[in-house]
Amino acid sequence: MSDRTDRTRLIASATRRGRGRRAVAPAIERASTLLNDSPDAMRDESRGPVYGIEDLSAARELRALLAELEGAIDAWLVPSGLAAVTAPLTALLRPGDAVLTTDALYGPSRRFLKRHMGARGVTTAFHAPDAATDDILAALTDRTRVLLIESPGSLTFDMLDIPALAAGCRARGVLTVMDNTWGAGLAFRPLAWGVDVSVQAVTKYVAGHSDLLMGSIAVADPAVGRPIAETLEDLGWRVSPDDAWLALRGLRTLPLRYAEQARSALVVAEWLRARPEVADILYPALPGSTGHDLWKRDYAGAASIFGVVMQGGDEAAAHALMAALELFGLGYSWGGFESLITHETGQLAGRKAPPELAGQLLRLHVGLEEPADLIADLEVGLAAWRAQQDSNLQPSA
Ligand SMILES: *Cc1c(COP(=O)(O)O)cnc(C)c1O
Repeated sequence: MSDRTDRTRLIASATRRGRGRRAVAPAIERASTLLNDSPDAMRDESRGPVYGIEDLSAARELRALLAELEGAIDAWLVPSGLAAVTAPLTALLRPGDAVLTTDALYGPSRRFLKRHMGARGVTTAFHAPDAATDDILAALTDRTRVLLIESPGSLTFDMLDIPALAAGCRARGVLTVMDNTWGAGLAFRPLAWGVDVSVQAVTKYVAGHSDLLMGSIAVADPAVGRPIAETLEDLGWRVSPDDAWLALRGLRTLPLRYAEQARSALVVAEWLRARPEVADILYPALPGSTGHDLWKRDYAGAASIFGVVMQGGDEAAAHALMAALELFGLGYSWGGFESLITHETGQLAGRKAPPELAGQLLRLHVGLEEPADLIADLEVGLAAWRAQQDSNLQPSA
């Protein structure tokens, strides 16, 4: 079984025999209350869940499949990708503990550490997004309980040497939690590389259709999993059966969508890199890009999202470019079937040490459209960028 590819395994799990005549997809059980035939049966936990807050059919199948994909003993579902980051940190950290993480951390995760954990006696230190492994390990203190890894980092897509970080942390008794949304549990398997807790926003590639929010948390070691499972139970965090059903549907086609979107993203990124309006492409999967060697060594695929550093420009030019596009939706998030564009220059100001870029920073998410059509659309966008730049040079009337 295990030597079959993900593509096969994710589908074969749906057609397994021995379950009688049934629908391919599980039933959606919407329930708070589960009824029993007798008072004795009511107390019999071997008959499955006794109350709707326990995961029901679709969520159970989704959990099992995600755990298999991640090489985990279990995977828990939470109501958002953000909750997948905050739940293990809530479970593993105590007042007086410290967290070390990247300055390129996903913004809302950073806010959680500062505001929520900060008010509860947990301090956070940041390392440079492209720091060397030795420098990161040297920044661990006696109080550091967790290294929170996000690679590639948000917005600037900086790569870290995860196997080396995981080994270094393990030797020092520091737990590693990795936000692996970019790897989607597919291109990179954190647990196999020695990371303790692998989390992802299911919202993105697993769901794949921009129609739900969900997160998953996977572990290989029961001792790490126990406090996380207890915390989720204590906090009462569960997902909706309808969302679990949709995420399971998305998961069946994840390998195909992910690979196809990465192929298109590479074509679009290469085209953009050759344009005079563009100074740099932040995409580790692109040969010649920063972080490409690490990506090539450790990753079996790539997400279809990257940064585009423009040659100078200002906000008006960035907005002119975005406004001229027809095929790129103006919206946050990624991993869905549709292409999206955002303007990120302002977001970088929240960092301890904002990077010095050659110009405006845009973020492109490439969907399942034909890449040649996306390129034609971008051609129009770049013309609007140039026109806006030129109008800045005109003497004002
Ligand atoms: C989107 C995202 C999240 C949060 O997911 P939500 O479901 O939107 O809460 C966390 N981490 C990364 C890297 C993300 O891109």
